[in-house]
Amino acid sequence: MNLLNTLVDKGLRGEAPSREEALAVLATSDDDVLDVVAAAGKVRRHWFGRRVKLSYLVNLKSGLCPEDCSYCSQRLGSKADILKYTWLGPDDASKAAAAGVAGGAKRVCLVASGRGPTDRDVERVSETIRTIKERNEGVEVCACLGLLTDGQAERLRAAGADAYNHNLNTSEATYDDITTTHTYADRVDTVRKAHAAGLSPCSGLIAGMGESDEDLVDVVFALRALDPDSVPVNFLIPFEGTPLGKEWNLTPQRCLRILAMVRFVCPDVEVRVAGGREVHLRTLQPLALHLANSIFLGDYLTSEGQAGRADLEMIADAGFEVEGMEQVTLPAHRAAGRCGSQENAEGGGGGCASAASDAQAGQARTDLVAVRRRGAGTDLAPNA
Ligand code: SF4
Repeated sequence: MNLLNTLVDKGLRGEAPSREEALAVLATSDDDVLDVVAAAGKVRRHWFGRRVKLSYLVNLKSGLCPEDCSYCSQRLGSKADILKYTWLGPDDASKAAAAGVAGGAKRVCLVASGRGPTDRDVERVSETIRTIKERNEGVEVCACLGLLTDGQAERLRAAGADAYNHNLNTSEATYDDITTTHTYADRVDTVRKAHAAGLSPCSGLIAGMGESDEDLVDVVFALRALDPDSVPVNFLIPFEGTPLGKEWNLTPQRCLRILAMVRFVCPDVEVRVAGGREVHLRTLQPLALHLANSIFLGDYLTSEGQAGRADLEMIADAGFEVEGMEQVTLPAHRAAGRCGSQENAEGGGGGCASAASDAQAGQARTDLVAVRRRGAGTDLAPNA
């Protein structure tokens, strides 16, 4: 396919495709999905070899959020039967983080529900960051605490945070349909604040919320414009008890097309398959490793992933290797000094086959959406 040859050439040069080319990737048919994976896989291997970076989630504060993000099991009014607890202390958080590191994770993501941290919250998370870094040499810490006010990103950086995550989630045009308690512009502002403070910016999306191909392409180009170092690609986990609990819009092939499109638009950036990997890619998960160079190990914030051991076996069986602490994630030309840089060592398809398989997408697999009952905030060992 000429399209794919063009996109590989551009990807190897670090250039983005045109908007039309990105849309054309999403419109390819299921018959062509292996060709799409193979092409985007060349770009992935050019910049990241066969390394897979593992990140591990620690939910510092779970549930009871006053915001109303429709996809979120922790939102205001959520009836999802998730664990709810307030701030984990540094010791508990550090123990949870250590389980992930022992499983091979080189980045720990400290997440808290809520609109954004108070200055007191930043203080307590700073203490947790210092504790985790003292006890786990070389680990990267990413904070994900919501919208930041002036000065907070700098204080997290000073405490030792390497990165800050705040997702754009969806296109500007559809943002208000998903959330009413804050704006797309608020989110962009926080990503910029993290960037300006010298934190490695991490910002991504959620696919499967009923958005169009145009929306997906818009958000991915908006992400590229923000110049993040890492882009998590979530596939909606439709939690019962949330407004999007019945949105089953994705097929494994559609997920692969989305990941390929993200790889082509952000060729030299860490692309992470995030929440919903098991639920939507199912037995095609290993193919996603040809597109993304990073995954979460074990569980997600409020739901179970597959066992950490299964993640590691999948990586080995597919011919990839877990990236070590001493290995560099990002290509050398990306900004020096950022974590992961050399210095810090670190559907709607258009085709018939695609349309047929998208018709299957509406078949709910609620059996795959299991609420997390172990790990941080519980007495049970984490899944790592
Ligand atoms: S702000 Fe975060 S925790 Fe709160 S509802 Fe939105 S996504 Fe969920």
